[in-house]
Formats: sequence, C-alpha cells, structure tokens
Amino acid sequence: MIGEYTRPNAARTAEPEASRRRRYDSHSRAGWERQKIVSARRKSITGKRKSARSGRGRSTGRKRSSKSRRRSGATPPRARKAHRLATDVLPRDVELQLDLDPARGKAFKGEVALGLHLERRRRSIELHAAELRVSRARLETRQGALRGRVDAHPERETVEVRFDQPIPAGDATLRLAFAGKLRSDLRGLYAASSGQRSYAFTQLEAADARRFFPCFDEPAMKARFQISVTTATGHTVLSNSAVAKIEPLGGGRKRVRFRPTPPLSTYLLALAVGELEASQPTHCGETEIRVWHVPGKGALTAFALETARETLTRLETYFDLAYPYQKLDLVAVPDFEAGAMENAGAVFFRETLLLVDPETVTLQEKKRVAEVICHELAHMWYGDLVTMAWWNDLWLNEAFATWMAFHVVDGWKPEWRMWHDFQHHRSAALGMDALRHSHPIYTEVRSPDEATENFDLITYEKGASVVRMIERYLGAENFRAGVRIYLRRHRESNTVAADLWRALSEVSDQEVEPIVRAWIEQQGFPLLRIRRAEREGRTLLRFRQERFEASPAAQRSSARKERPSRWPIPWVGRVARARRRRISTERRLISRVRDELVLEGEPVRFIYGNADEGGFFRPLHDPEELRVLAEELEAISAVERMGLLGHQWAIVRAGRAKLDAFLDLAMAFGGERDPDVLMTLRTPLSFTRRQIAAPLGDEMEAALMSRIVEEFGDAFAALSWDPAGGEGDEIKLRRAALLALVGEIGESEPVLQTAMERCSAYLEDRHSLEPNLADSVVNLGARQGDAGLFERFLEAAKTAGTPQERRRFLMALGDFLAPDLVKRTLSLSLTDTVGTQDVAILLSRMLGNRAAGEQTWEFIKRRWAALRRRMPPMLITRPIEATPHLGSRAARRDVASFFRANPVPTGARAVRQALEKFDLNLEIQTRAAPALRRWLTEGTSEKRR
Ligand SMILES: [Zn+2]
Repeated sequence: MIGEYTRPNAARTAEPEASRRRRYDSHSRAGWERQKIVSARRKSITGKRKSARSGRGRSTGRKRSSKSRRRSGATPPRARKAHRLATDVLPRDVELQLDLDPARGKAFKGEVALGLHLERRRRSIELHAAELRVSRARLETRQGALRGRVDAHPERETVEVRFDQPIPAGDATLRLAFAGKLRSDLRGLYAASSGQRSYAFTQLEAADARRFFPCFDEPAMKARFQISVTTATGHTVLSNSAVAKIEPLGGGRKRVRFRPTPPLSTYLLALAVGELEASQPTHCGETEIRVWHVPGKGALTAFALETARETLTRLETYFDLAYPYQKLDLVAVPDFEAGAMENAGAVFFRETLLLVDPETVTLQEKKRVAEVICHELAHMWYGDLVTMAWWNDLWLNEAFATWMAFHVVDGWKPEWRMWHDFQHHRSAALGMDALRHSHPIYTEVRSPDEATENFDLITYEKGASVVRMIERYLGAENFRAGVRIYLRRHRESNTVAADLWRALSEVSDQEVEPIVRAWIEQQGFPLLRIRRAEREGRTLLRFRQERFEASPAAQRSSARKERPSRWPIPWVGRVARARRRRISTERRLISRVRDELVLEGEPVRFIYGNADEGGFFRPLHDPEELRVLAEELEAISAVERMGLLGHQWAIVRAGRAKLDAFLDLAMAFGGERDPDVLMTLRTPLSFTRRQIAAPLGDEMEAALMSRIVEEFGDAFAALSWDPAGGEGDEIKLRRAALLALVGEIGESEPVLQTAMERCSAYLEDRHSLEPNLADSVVNLGARQGDAGLFERFLEAAKTAGTPQERRRFLMALGDFLAPDLVKRTLSLSLTDTVGTQDVAILLSRMLGNRAAGEQTWEFIKRRWAALRRRMPPMLITRPIEATPHLGSRAARRDVASFFRANPVPTGARAVRQALEKFDLNLEIQTRAAPALRRWLTEGTSEKRR
C-alpha cells in the first residue's frame, strides 16, 4: 500500500546533474573500514525460519522465547492473543462465490468453502468475520458431514463454529453462507460511484478481508483462492487471477469464474465490479498489462502503461525472478482511501495516481505516478510473493517497496533525480522520528487499529532510508544478491526480518543484523557531532553521537544521559582539501558513542558530515565549519545542500543553534539554481513567518516577507512567467520553486497581481500556463478570490478533464480567505462534491489556512459524528496532524480535550504527536522571537558582509 500523497514539502523536481553526482566514487564495500562487530547470532533464527517456511510464520512472534525477545529489545506480546487465531487450523484452498450487483443495491451474499488442515482434534473452529451475517455452517471430513452452530464474537471480529462431536485431525472442508452490505467507508467490500454509475471495490489491508467474507485474516495464513462472481451482464468483474470462464445465467445475469490464485494472504485479494473500460494491453514478456478505468478516460492511460512495462521489466531483472502472477491489471478506482494497493495481479489506485494527461500534468505529479506504480509492482515480489509473518514487520514490505521504487525509477529516468524527492520524504521522517511519540520501525502490533496506525512516515520513509543505508554499506551487488536469495528461499511463504539479514550476511560475509537492529528496533536517530582538529600535519575528526530530540529540554537531558542511545553508523562524509579543491569521500563504521578518524594527506578546507544524505542521522557541524560551507555551497551536491538546510533548521528548532544564524544561511541560497534546494527553504521560511514573525505583529511579518522577496525576487523576475523555447525541466521547476517563495511566502504585490490574472486565464484555457506553476497560481488566485472565483473553481473541479485538475481546484476551495467562502467549503465537505477519499485531506488543508483554521476546527468539532463517517480510519489522522497549525495554547487544550472525549482508535498516536508539536511550536515562538527581531531590524549580520 502507499498513502495518498502530498507531503507538505513535496518537491517539484529537476534536470540531471550527472556530472556533480558522479564526481564522487561509488559506495562499494571495498571502501569500508572493516570494523568487526562481535555479536553472537541469535539461536532462535533457525526455529524462526522453519516456522515461517512451513507457512505458519505467525507462530514466530508467539513462540519466541522470552530470552530471544529480551535480546531483540521487542516488547513482549500482551493483549495480542485476543486478536490472533489458533495455529493448528490452517486454510489451504478456498472457493469463494459472491452474488452482487452494485447498480441494483448494496446487499451482497456469498458462499465460501474453506479447505482446511487440522493439526489436532477439536470441537470448534474460529475464523474472522466482521459485520457479516454468517450461517449454514457445514463441515465435511473423511468421516462424513457435520452441521455446525455459528457464534459471533464481534469484539474479536470472529465467528466460532461449534460442533456436537469432535472433528478429527486431518483435512476438512468448512462451508459457510454469508451476507452483508457494501460499505460506505472505503474498506472491506465497499460501494463507490462515478457520476451515475455504481461500483463495488475491495480494500482489505490491513485487516478488512473479514468484512468481505469469513476467512483466516492473518498474513501468514496463505491459501489458494478460487473466486467466482454472479452479477449483471453489463458489469466488468476483475480479481487477482485471469478469467477462466464467463457463463450466461439468463435474466441479464452472468457468472464470472476466475482461475485459482497461487497461495495468497487474504489482505491481497481484490474484487472490482461495475462498468469499467480497459486500455489496449501492453506486454512485459508473457505478462499482459492493462489499465482499467471508469468509461471515458481512455486517453489518460498511456503513461501508466509505459511506466508499468518499463518498471516491471526492471524489477524482473533486479529480482532475477519472473513476475509471479497470471496477468497485471492496474485499476483506477474513483473513490479510494489509500494512494494505491498492491493486490496480487490487480493493483488498485486513486485516479490521481494512475491517469495522466501528458499535456497538462506537472512533472511532480507524473513522477509521483511513476513512483507509486513501481512501489506497488515491487510488492508483487516483496510483500505478495514473500510476505511478512505478522504486522510487526510491516516495514519489511513497505520500507523495501519504497526504496525499490526510487531505485528503479531513478535507473529508468535519471534526469528526474528521484533521490531529490526521496530527500523531501526522508526529511519529513526525520522530523517525525525526533518526537517523543515516534515509534521504532519494528513495532509490536496487537490489534488491527495498531496495524493501521503503522502505515506512516517511520515505516515507509525511515524504513526505506535504513534499507538504503544497508545497500550502500554492503554494496549494490551484494545487496541485490542477498535479496535474490531471500525471495527464492521464501517464495509463497512468510518471513521475519532475521530471514533477510541472514541472506544478506551470507552473500556479503558481514554481520548485518547487529548493525541493522539498532536502527529497526530503536526509536529515533542520532545527532552526530563532528569536530575537526589539525594536528602534526594530519586532520583528526572527532565524533560524538547522542539521540536527536526535537525538543530542547529533551535534547539537554538526552545529552546528559549516562548511558546514551547508540547506533552503529555507517558514516560517509565529504572532505574538501585546502589545495586543489579536491573532494574525497571518507568512510567509517562508528559504533561507539565517541569515535575518531585520522585523515592523512593535505590540510582540510571543510567537511560535510552526511554524504549523499545516505545516513539516517543529522550531522552537527561547528559554527566555523558551517561558515566555510556556506561560502562553498556549490562544492557539495544538491541533495547535500537540501540536507544541510534541513539539518540546520531542525537544530535551530531543537535549541542547538540560533534562528538568525539559520536565516543567514538561508539567504546564502539567494543564487541557488537547484529547484529542490529552493523547495527545501519553503518549510522553514513559511514556519518562521507564521509561527514566529506573525505573533510579533504585522510590521515584523511584513519585514520578513520583504526580505524573502528581496533575496529571491530577482531570480524569479529574470525567468519571467512563460518558458523560453526549448527550456528544460530544471528551469521550469526553478521558476515554480521561486514562485512559491516569492508569491506564497513573500506575497510580493506585483507577483500576486500577475498570479491572479494568470489564474483567470488558466480557468479559461489549461494550456495558457506552464503546468508546473499551476499549484501556486491556483493557490494564489484563491487567496485573493471572491465568490465569483469560488464558483468558477467549483465548476472547474466538477468538469475537470483529468483527476489532477479536479484535485487541484477542489483542494484550492480550501485556500479562500473570506469567512463565508470558508463556510461554503466546509459544508461541501459533507456532500458528494467532495468524495469520501478527499474529505480528510481538504479539512487538513483548511486547518493550515490561517484565515480558515479556527472556523474549520469549530466545524470539525460541531459536525464530528457526520464527518467521521466520511473519514476512513487511515485518513482520519490527516486533520489531527494539521491541528498544530492552530498555534495557540488555548487551541492545544481544546484539541487535547476534544480527542480525549472523542478517541480515534487509529489516531491515538497522531493525537499525541500533534500535542507534542503544539508544544514545540509554542516553545520556539518565545525563544526565537528576539533573534528574529534582531535579524530583521539590524539587517544582514556582520558575518555575511
Ligand atoms: Zn506499499
């Protein structure tokens, strides 16, 4: 699965900078200092592998000895038992028959025949079923058939079938009838619509297959499924497998039978029913690839087909293993909670993440589509073919698929510079992981809600950063060889993390586990202080690590800790020599709290402590080092400049540096040409404006805004609004990044005026504007817009020709400032104008709109009951995450008490994190105000002149 997009700091990417990137040597293992880490391998590993292999991997968590648990640092399972099924009854072959017609009504019914293997004699069988009526239980064994009595356990989301006499061990078939209603919350088997057409789709991860049919809904309980569906003749029916047979039934009805699937976890099953059209197929070897969509969108499928073919080919090569399913359908779903879902052989997407018009799409939107398609296709092997045994190891799926998508798309389109995008994502993960209420990548999961909570930045982006760190440490070849072994060894089965470490250790001859486990099982990440001293013609680098904390108070107490947190850091740094301007790459595995590295050779001019931003830590440089770096920004790569800005900003927020020093550094980027580096300035500058300058009064806020315009306005003016002939993507994106700085944050008067004119023209003709400017122009239009413009936006959203355009105008309804327009958008959020998939995103955007925030929060509280029905469990965290924009102490109290009274099961952690962010924002407001005032009134600091 991948989340619905738009990270706050989404990049709008750039052209290749191959020369700069390739100047540095690659990261082969040979370059590493071999620092042996002594650590005994876990004895429990062998046992784990066995159980995972035999398809009973779920026992791994439970059967782990307390000793091995202590060693792994994981919390012992507590309430888990209540939510897990017995391990001695396992499904093997499942026949599922369904009867539904979404155009006629919401009711559906079906029958399921579960081919089981019982390891021991028992009197009852418990399996998952939630919000379904289950009846007519019958068990067939070699000794004959038995009738069963069905007891529902709604609190466990199970039914228990009891029999009057014991069932013998061995094989048996359990037959059940069931009935339910298509849901309206985008989970399980749910109803969706597009115009007048009605559909049914599934979304089953993490634990909603039990809302679809009675089943063994745990990832390690894989079975082969044979699905058949009875419905109206006019509907298309899609599922994981190819269609085996379509039988006409008369009366306008038909039965569609699918071929049996290979062994699959229940969360990977898929069903789509309704009027759908398909593209012409494209092929990757034998595999037929199609894009499916609601009627009339066929013109938007070419890019998805090309991407799927390209990335599937590259994935087959990487894994050295053919695509494991019969065909590949990519389905654009008109109302969908996640961004996309890796159902085996039938991947479902939001329309915005699959259907694209090459003429009007922004490069950022297009890159995201490619990344998401590749992420889901990587799951076909990593997740679907080999599956984590339990949700604790969700990151095994997601971290890898995330990393793989960037790796593969970067190989396909190096000019897109995918690792710049990754840097934006990673930066958000570093932000979250510095909070007290973060969590380790490996997290104990006791309930479906806890599993759902873990689809977050830590599991995906921190996880992918750790995967990337390991790949760089072991070397690309070794890493790939290990992954190939791992996939072959565990295909169609389940795994725990140790299985991957073992495969990687085998090929690399290195102890992988001791390095990786600290990153996987420990919350947070290090702040690595790097001090440089010249001594007797040599340079000495002194390292000291401590846990990086977002809060200054926490940072102080962490620094004082007697036994500080420690990570083995595969450190790679840039070293610039004083003469000849040569830059070299230095490596060391830093496994202690304090460490040293001696650099031979000529004197050093400066160092940068996180080469390629390949490590998941923040380097802390001395002020003198930073001063030299700021003078030679061009000497480090764009991604390192992005990193430098992000780290320094976080270090200011954590109380380890002053705001004015950061602003000096930011202004040193006035001549910056890389669009992603410019985009990195957006978050700190807009935060400084809103949270620190604005509370000091209009005058201070205006002074900051004009400083920003002063610094970046000329660069924007020089580019003009329209692209010159033959202009490359990098310039287009630079223009867009500068517009965001000068228009959205600096609010330059002439720029706002032109933006308004451009917005009006764009509404008339979508080709009148360079596409990459569209987001900013629409936003700036809304900010200045009246009721007339609001109507035009609303109309444009309703009649949009592409999903991206619809989204752009719909979301911009939340950017208007006038209270009556804010009110209108809020009431629209309760209607079908805003789809169920978009409500939470729109509200979170409105909480971030200064003019609309309070009104939105009041509305959320007032209409909570109605809104909850329109915000599915994973998306509901979005508005919670946005509440810190409200800013004040009173708002914090209000948010805390509201969610205490109205707890959200999948949002408990999001609430804790939001309150923590409120506190952090309030703290820096007071602390940094004098520095900002000084910087604004006294002008550029002495240092810069
Ligand atoms: Zn995923």
